Amino acid sequence: MASATDSRYGQKESSDQNFDYMFKILIIGNSSVGKTSFLFRYADDSFTPAFVSTVGIDFKVKTIYRNDKRIKLQIWDTAGQERYRTITTAYYRGAMGFILMYDITNEESFNAVQDWSTQIKTYSWDNAQVLLVGNKCDMEDERVVSSERGRQLADHLGFEFFEASAKDNINVKQTFERLVDIICEKMSESLDTADPAVTGAKQGPQLTDQQAPPHQDCAC
Ligand code: GDP
Ligand code: MG
Repeated sequence: MASATDSRYGQKESSDQNFDYMFKILIIGNSSVGKTSFLFRYADDSFTPAFVSTVGIDFKVKTIYRNDKRIKLQIWDTAGQERYRTITTAYYRGAMGFILMYDITNEESFNAVQDWSTQIKTYSWDNAQVLLVGNKCDMEDERVVSSERGRQLADHLGFEFFEASAKDNINVKQTFERLVDIICEKMSESLDTADPAVTGAKQGPQLTDQQAPPHQDCAC
């Protein structure tokens, strides 16, 4: 459960030898953009899911190796709450990374990205890392949001950008791995420069500086 893990998240884990770090990642965006499909595509291939639905929010766990570190990802899904834009603020607490998703065949979901971005900025750490993902890029015939518009919005918001398809398994793994890499980069930056009293705090390292991101578009 979130409350049991928040306190150690983002910190070097000594009591559990199975991972070095744990990152909480949230997938956010309008209903039906494909968040749950995206999570299932990523997490279900080779790992046993830990699925919790009692509090109306679900997450899955996956441990990956990046930068010589075992990183346990706790990836949260919204269990339908996004339909009413009433996602509890507790959902945002302790998140180091966000996948902000829209559907390239749905203009409204793209128009809502700005609002979701504001929610992230309001309820999460100032320096939580965000990746903008235009999902369903397999549906080229029904596309209404061009790659260029997606990229421009990502630039404007200071996020990196991918187009992806949960259905055809395009850029799903890459999205998560890039997000983890950005979080790791920011973490090591702040560990290099920050006051240890700050980096050792309950909320984890204070991440600083937004960088201008490279772009990776859909391969389809
Ligand atoms: P959520 O409400 O954001 O969690 O969206 P879901 O994962 O429930 O997906 C909504 C609908 O979009 C479902 O019918 C999915 O099968 C479909 N869907 C999700 N991802 C993709 C995708 O990458 N391509 C296509 N063509 N359909 C998708
Ligand atoms: Mg869902």
